[in-house]
Amino acid sequence: MKSMNKLIESLNRHRKNGQALLAANFYNAETLQAILFAAKQERSEIILQTSPATLNYLGVKLATAMARAAADEYGVTAWLHLDHATDTDLIHHCIETGYDSVMIDASEFEFTENVQRAKEIVKIAHEKNIAVEAEIGYIPKLGQAGANGTGLTTPEEAQSFIERTNVDLLAIAIGTAHGFYKEKPALDFERLEAISKVVDRPLVLHGGSGLSKDEWRMAIRGGIAKINFATEIKDTFINTIKKSLNGNDEIDLRKVFLPGIRTTARLVAEKIRVCSGN
Ligand SMILES: [Zn+2]
Repeated sequence: MKSMNKLIESLNRHRKNGQALLAANFYNAETLQAILFAAKQERSEIILQTSPATLNYLGVKLATAMARAAADEYGVTAWLHLDHATDTDLIHHCIETGYDSVMIDASEFEFTENVQRAKEIVKIAHEKNIAVEAEIGYIPKLGQAGANGTGLTTPEEAQSFIERTNVDLLAIAIGTAHGFYKEKPALDFERLEAISKVVDRPLVLHGGSGLSKDEWRMAIRGGIAKINFATEIKDTFINTIKKSLNGNDEIDLRKVFLPGIRTTARLVAEKIRVCSGN
C-alpha cells in the first residue's frame, strides 16, 4: 500500500483509545439521514455500509453519491464500506466508484479458498489504497443455524490468515450471529483477547444487533475496532412507521418517514455513545 488507508488509521486510533467505530447499514435516504443525524449530534465519525442487496436496490452509483453528499451535508466524517460481498464484479464496481473499503466474504469456503479469494481482492484494492475486510470462522447469516460454540475463529488461523492475505480488517467469529438472537448468545471474550494479541489489524464484530451495552463494551475492551449494526436499524425504522401510519391518512412523503428517522437516529446515537466509551 502506498500510504495507509485513512479509515484504517482511524480504526487503529480508536482501538488504541479503547473505542470503536460504529459501522451502520443504510437502506434508503431516510436511514442514511438518521445515521448521519446521530453521528453529527455525537460529533463522531461513522462507517456507512451497504450490503449487496442494498446496492441491488439503489444501484452502486446512487448509493455512493447519496452517502457522500449526505455526509457532506451533515458535516460528518463518514467512510463508505461494502458489506458481505461475494461477487467480484460488484467489489470491482465499488472500488471504481470510490468506496473506502470492501468486504470479501468467502468465509463459507474452506480456509485455503478463503485465503485465495481474499488475496485476489487485496491485490486490486490496495493498488487504489482501498481497505479490505475478510471473515474467518462461522458467523451465522439469517436463517442459518446458531454457532453453538462451533466454527469460532482460532488465534492461530487468524494470524495465519493475515500473514497470507494482508487484509486490513478481520471479522472474527466469537459467538455472534446476524439478525436477532433467538437465544442469548454466549460470547467468547477470552478468545477475542487471544486473537487480539496476535492480530495487529482492526478486528470486526458482526451481529451487533441485540447484544447488550455491556457486551459491546467488553468487545471493544477486547480489541474490536468496528461493530457492524444493521438489523435493529431496519427493525426500528419500519416498526415506527408501521405504528405511525396505523389509522393515519397522511400521504405526504416528506412527513410520513419523519417518526422513523427520529427513532432510528436515537437508536444509532445510543450505539455511537457506547462505541465512544460513554
Ligand atoms: Zn455481517
